[in-house]
Amino acid sequence: MRAVIMDAPGEITVAEREDPRIVEPTDAVIRLTATCICGSDLWPYRGVEPADHSPMGHEYVGVVEEVGASVTTVKPGDFVVGSFVISCGKCEICVSGYPSKCIHAEFVAGIGTQSEKARIPLADGTLVTTPGLPDDSLIPSLLAASDVLGTGWFAADAAQVGPGKTVAVVGDGAVGLMGVLAAQQMGAERIIAMSRHADRQALAREYGATDIVTERGAEGAARIKELTGGLGAHSVIEAVGTEESMLQAIHSTRGGGHIGFVGVAHEGVQLPLDQLFFAGVHLHGGPAPVRRYLPELIQKIWDREIDPGKVFDLTLPLDQAAEGYAAMHERRAIKVMLTL
Ligand SMILES: [Zn+2]
Ligand SMILES: [Zn+2]
Repeated sequence: MRAVIMDAPGEITVAEREDPRIVEPTDAVIRLTATCICGSDLWPYRGVEPADHSPMGHEYVGVVEEVGASVTTVKPGDFVVGSFVISCGKCEICVSGYPSKCIHAEFVAGIGTQSEKARIPLADGTLVTTPGLPDDSLIPSLLAASDVLGTGWFAADAAQVGPGKTVAVVGDGAVGLMGVLAAQQMGAERIIAMSRHADRQALAREYGATDIVTERGAEGAARIKELTGGLGAHSVIEAVGTEESMLQAIHSTRGGGHIGFVGVAHEGVQLPLDQLFFAGVHLHGGPAPVRRYLPELIQKIWDREIDPGKVFDLTLPLDQAAEGYAAMHERRAIKVMLTL
């Protein structure tokens, strides 16, 4: 099968890999319908994380081709969406709603789903079937549920977004935009998107943003305070993962407010503990337990209540993955879908 390989930072090839097959009785092998490039794939691309002939990709939708003997919830021919973390669905952590911290958790990034097929371990706990074979127009949105929508949704949930609340969103990448959509769906009264890019501001407004703040850092936080009568937002979504963005989130939150942080932090990123301490806010985040939200999100997409697929502003065939990486790296695209 063909698969995207990052030979070294910045070097993307589409090469032949051995077809995946069932190894464990709990596995499924799926044929990808579409896959995509994630903001987190840019870290190795830029050399911030290592890359050495690495298979790439962790977001996926597709049709089940084969299942192991003990798989019961999906069967060949089913259309499935899965989270970017493999989870068993049965351990105490999964049952408590945190499948991304499952005791058997495995990042799909290590499997690589920018490929024609993928072996998905623990299929029963990881994959969710759609109500039927989806119309082509639903594929981008279902693919978004696999990571960015689920992650934005978790961030809003962790930030305790709800009716009557003012929400500020730090980060205008795909996850930040999905946080805006989630906040709108959860009934937020006011949603302030922090963005400097006209195209992203427009999409944020389409997804429910009521205000746009272009300032960043301490100035950005001061602007949020100004817009909220000096108090700060009730709920803040942090979707970047740097010290600056985290402090912007902390200082944009009112005392006693909540931050949902889902921006992937990297080794060496630090936070001044005194600033966190004196802010007096709730902090909850990490790799999003996307699998928890998938049944609800798939239904909303199926019923066309939400259209998260609009975050894909560039679609390319898998063979042109290198151009997709370059477009995201150069910020010519918010998020790139790869078709098979
Ligand atoms: Zn991702
Ligand atoms: Zn588990």
